[in-house]
Amino acid sequence: MKNNFEFWTHFAEFLTYLELPPRSDGLEKNPFSMLVSKHFASKIKKGDWNDPLLRQVLPSIAELREVKGFEDDPVGDEESVQEDGILQKYVGRALVIATPACSIHCRFCFRRNFPFHADPTLTDRLDCWLEKHTDIHEVILSGGDPLMLDNETFQNLVSVILKHESVGTLRIHTRTPVTLPQKLLETEEKSHFSCLQKAATQKKIVFVSHVNHPQELDEASGKVFQHLRSIGVTLLSQSVLLKGVNDNVQTLVALSQKLFEQGVLPYYLHQLDHAKGVAHFEVEDVHAIKLMNEIRNLLPGYLVPRLVRERPHDGSKQPLF
Ligand code: SF4
Repeated sequence: MKNNFEFWTHFAEFLTYLELPPRSDGLEKNPFSMLVSKHFASKIKKGDWNDPLLRQVLPSIAELREVKGFEDDPVGDEESVQEDGILQKYVGRALVIATPACSIHCRFCFRRNFPFHADPTLTDRLDCWLEKHTDIHEVILSGGDPLMLDNETFQNLVSVILKHESVGTLRIHTRTPVTLPQKLLETEEKSHFSCLQKAATQKKIVFVSHVNHPQELDEASGKVFQHLRSIGVTLLSQSVLLKGVNDNVQTLVALSQKLFEQGVLPYYLHQLDHAKGVAHFEVEDVHAIKLMNEIRNLLPGYLVPRLVRERPHDGSKQPLF
């Protein structure tokens, strides 16, 4: 793995690296900046505008179109805020926006317009909040990507969650195994992996990795999952159904099979959340359901993810299939 913690942030340089001709795509007017880890970029086929990984990360002029029904806060994050950075959407579970940082800016991100800010008081406030909310049995670290936190902040946050007896499960939502696996392959004492190793002796740990295409899974992601399995972490995946990326039977079947090869069970396949700027990724429900019917005939039931949509005010994600 070369260029471990390096990123592509400059559009023209990124195109040169990919051996693609220059173009602008209105990037100067796009408020959501370009960010691609060099590890993720190394899996993009050069010279191909239609590469399914490139389509997820390359800013497009289509993001600047206003489309009715596509809004800043498509899943009601803001009205679920209990305290700055602490959200509760569902009974017994709390979601912590641990950091605004990601190792990649997915162009279809449902939080692309979220008013993020890093808050050094979050860990202490979460401690007090959990003290008062003993009905919370699962804490979900999200973001951004919680594994982008520096080791010390991550360890402090995890320690605070571990000390609350009412919390039985720590869940981590992350894209790191496919975008920056080095964050979990470090073996030094002060690493995210050693922190999770200790945590797994005290609580159930569930790792939900965001993966949209089988080409994202490589030797490094396989090693990450192997490490995590060896310490007893439950490994699930979530994917977003994306036009031009994974909206065909062959890709979805290969994704489930490759996840399973790496020890991960497919969990959710999300219909696109209607954030402003992402409408060009939309797959019609009727096509999504047809795909699910077809993949169900080709895979064992345990490899068929649940096709769901998240809407504000629903008590859970709603199955479409
Ligand atoms: S890694 Fe997750 S939070 Fe970050 S841009 Fe991608 S989808 Fe959004």
